[in-house]
Amino acid sequence: MSTEFELIQQYFTRPTSRTDAGIGDDAALITSSPNNQLVISADMSVAGTHFFQDAEPYDIGWKSLAVNVSDIAAMGATPKWATLTISLPNINHAWLKEFSRGLFACASAFDIDLIGGDTTRGPLNISIQIIGEVPTGEALKRNNAKEGDDIWVSGDLGCAAVGLRLLQKRIPDISGDTQLACLRAINAPQPRIALGLALRKIANSCIDISDGLLADLMHILKASNVGATVSLENIPCLPAIRARLQDADTQRLLLTGGEDYELCFTAPPQQRERLIDVAMKLRLQIVRIGTINTSKKLAVTFQNKHLNISKLGYDHFEY
Ligand code: ADP
Ligand code: MG
Repeated sequence: MSTEFELIQQYFTRPTSRTDAGIGDDAALITSSPNNQLVISADMSVAGTHFFQDAEPYDIGWKSLAVNVSDIAAMGATPKWATLTISLPNINHAWLKEFSRGLFACASAFDIDLIGGDTTRGPLNISIQIIGEVPTGEALKRNNAKEGDDIWVSGDLGCAAVGLRLLQKRIPDISGDTQLACLRAINAPQPRIALGLALRKIANSCIDISDGLLADLMHILKASNVGATVSLENIPCLPAIRARLQDADTQRLLLTGGEDYELCFTAPPQQRERLIDVAMKLRLQIVRIGTINTSKKLAVTFQNKHLNISKLGYDHFEY
C-alpha cells in the first residue's frame, strides 16, 4: 500500500526548471515574464469518453497533456506550467508508471513543469490545466479572420478519425503503414507549438482542429463574423484517404473527423511566401484549403461543384 503522498512523490514529482515552488507546498509559486500575458486552458479526459478503458497508459499520459498543449499552440503561445487532477479507481503501480512516463515525455518535449494537482479515488478521470505565456497583444485569436484571407491547415487531416475506427476494429482494409500513421495520430497527437509561435504577426486567426475541420473553422467564422469556401480536394490527407475522395464516407471523415490537433489559420495572401518559408524551416506541411469571404456561410466545393455538406451529416454551416 502507498499513501497518496508517496504516490505523488513517486510518479508526479520531477525536477522543475522555471518554477519557484512546485509540488509539495499548499500551492505552487511561479513568476510570470514581464510584458507577457498568461494563457490558461484546461481539458478533462474521461475513461470511456475520451479514451478506451484499456488504452495504453503511456498514450493516455501523453495525450492528456498534448491536447492541452495544442490549445496553447493555437493561441501562438509558449506552454510553461501544468497541473494534474486525477481520480483513480485503484492504485495500479504498473499503470501509474507508464501513465507518468507518457505524461512527462510530453512535458519534456515542450519544456513544461508539472507544478501541482490533486489525487483522489474514483472513476479514471484526468484533468489538466495548462499555463502558457505570450507577448502582450500577440496572441492568435479566433475573432480576427478578414475577407480575402487564405485558410490554411497544417499536417494531414482525417488520420485520427481513421485511427479511431481502427481502435473500434472498423475499416482496416488499408496498408500497414497507413494504419500505423493513423494509430499514431489518434494515440500520440503532436501539438504544433513551433508553428503557432511562428504564426504570430503573420496569421489573422487560428484554432486547433479538435472537433473536426468544419466545426472548428465555423468557430473562426462566427467569432470573426465572416464566411468561407473550402475546396475538399485541397484538404491535405494521406494518399490512402485521397484515393477514396469520391466516397461520401471519406468526405465526411475528412471534413468532420476530430482529434487531429493540427492548426487551422487564416492569413492575407501577401503572407504566402513568408508562410511557405516558415513551413520549410519547421519541416511541416501547410496547405491552403480555401478563402474567407463576407457571406457568413461555410461552403465546400468538390471538383468545382458545390458539395452538399448537410448530406454528410454536417448542418451548422450557416449562422
Ligand atoms: P492538499 O491536501 O494541501 O491539497 P495534497 O496532498 O492534495 O495537498 O497535495 C500535496 C502536493 O502534491 C501539492 O503540492 C499538490 O499540488 C501536489 N499534487 C497532488 N496531486 C498531484 C498530482 N496528481 N500531480 C501533481 N501534483 C500533485
Ligand atoms: Mg489536495
